[in-house]
Amino acid sequence: MRSFPVFISFDGKPPLVVGGGELAAIKARLLLKRAATVDIAAAHMGEALERMAEAGQVRRLPPEPGIDQLRGRPLVISATENDDEDSRVSAIARALGVPVNVPDRPPLCTFALPAIVDRGEVTVAIGTEGAAPVLAQRLRAWLEEELHPRLDALAKLAGEFRARVAEKLPPGTQRRRFWESVFDGAAAEAVLHGDEVKARSLLHEALDDAKLGSPPQGRVLLVGAGPGDPDLLTLKAVRALKSADVVFYDKLVGEGVLECARREAELVPVGKAKGAHSVPQHEINALLVERAKAGQTVVRLKGGDPFVFGRGGEELDALRAENIRIEIVPGVTAGVAAAASLQIPLTHRDVSHTVTFVSGHEAGGKEPSFAHLDLSALAAGNNTIIVYMGVTTGAVIAQRLLDAGFRPGLPVIAVENASRASERRVATTIAVLAARPESLNLKSPAVLIFGEVAGLPASGVVEDILASEEVKHAYA
Ligand code: SAH
Repeated sequence: MRSFPVFISFDGKPPLVVGGGELAAIKARLLLKRAATVDIAAAHMGEALERMAEAGQVRRLPPEPGIDQLRGRPLVISATENDDEDSRVSAIARALGVPVNVPDRPPLCTFALPAIVDRGEVTVAIGTEGAAPVLAQRLRAWLEEELHPRLDALAKLAGEFRARVAEKLPPGTQRRRFWESVFDGAAAEAVLHGDEVKARSLLHEALDDAKLGSPPQGRVLLVGAGPGDPDLLTLKAVRALKSADVVFYDKLVGEGVLECARREAELVPVGKAKGAHSVPQHEINALLVERAKAGQTVVRLKGGDPFVFGRGGEELDALRAENIRIEIVPGVTAGVAAAASLQIPLTHRDVSHTVTFVSGHEAGGKEPSFAHLDLSALAAGNNTIIVYMGVTTGAVIAQRLLDAGFRPGLPVIAVENASRASERRVATTIAVLAARPESLNLKSPAVLIFGEVAGLPASGVVEDILASEEVKHAYA
């Protein structure tokens, strides 16, 4: 029969560990996470237990405990590593109805010790009915990473407000919605950042604002989804996705990234591939406002970083105009991800001192003029230029650079689908790009990195256009 999980309170009574060796010490240490003292029944105690005894954490009792020593215990662990003795202790405990555990001897146990994730007030216990302790440990390691280390403070704060919330809001949907909005909202975020003063004042505010029958205030998170690989999401982006009621996402957002969203979240594509049909920006703005006003947690998920050529600024303005609560979660922008994948530094002593992010696609679909950039100043120094949205205008860009005085042999490296399985890299020079852009056979999305750093040794496969016979012949 499968066992039933419970949390046992020691209620001031010390639990008993039988045995004085290393195994007994491990169990005593575990129990000390919750017990003030642990009793040890042993003829001798090993070094570890001796130290705990000196610290007043354990108290030694005579070995071979009998009925009197076991009666009334909250629990007993027999870890003598002697089968006969462990069986004897187990039999007495069971007769007395005292919960007993013998490590690695399920038939002698009435309870199992779970793998534990400890966040103070929040405790997660994992059991596998003894079938797969290693799996339990792996789950524990995973949860250790998933559960914020300050979860404890969050639970304590919620505990502080519990009575006041119960007084103001009736049990059921409304109280639950209130707590959901707290745990998904700015107050929880503040606690997790260590700012309990701010969290407390936000909670007071939320409770003052919580009126019977009125929905909680929604919010919008502008979240950077990174270049495609879900491993490049920030922890904050993952948390945002896990709390979303609805996710409005761009075409460039990777599929693996969407899988991080809460299972119940509504996933709405809003296009935004260059040139292709997409939801117009003013409609996206209106959707964000409408959902937030309905009390939802809205995630606006954008490729790369939301504030790098992502029109995040326009959404921010629209939301501010409506007084909607907003948070920005930065993401790894495509150019930075491409450089990391190539193992090419964007700045490097003596090679490049600045990085300029440039859009190759000007509003209105015109050819880019780069009138806003002082290209000849850039040509004079050691600079790196990363062009986004430059697949169709690469040749024009390269020509502008040549005109501004950049040397014809200046290296260019283009990276398609950076960080995705389909990533492709092509190296060339600005002269070749200006005259023969089709030789790169570039497809969107791609970034073009111009500068001496693009000629540094790159990791992985790079197609070298200069190396192709035809091009070599024409541009030698
Ligand atoms: N906010 C995004 C950029 C949006 S503009 C960011 O910070 O990355 C869209 C352009 O980004 C594309 O035309 C392309 O130049 C670039 N881009 C986005 N994802 C890319 C990827 N995985 N690989 C290469 N370029 C990418």
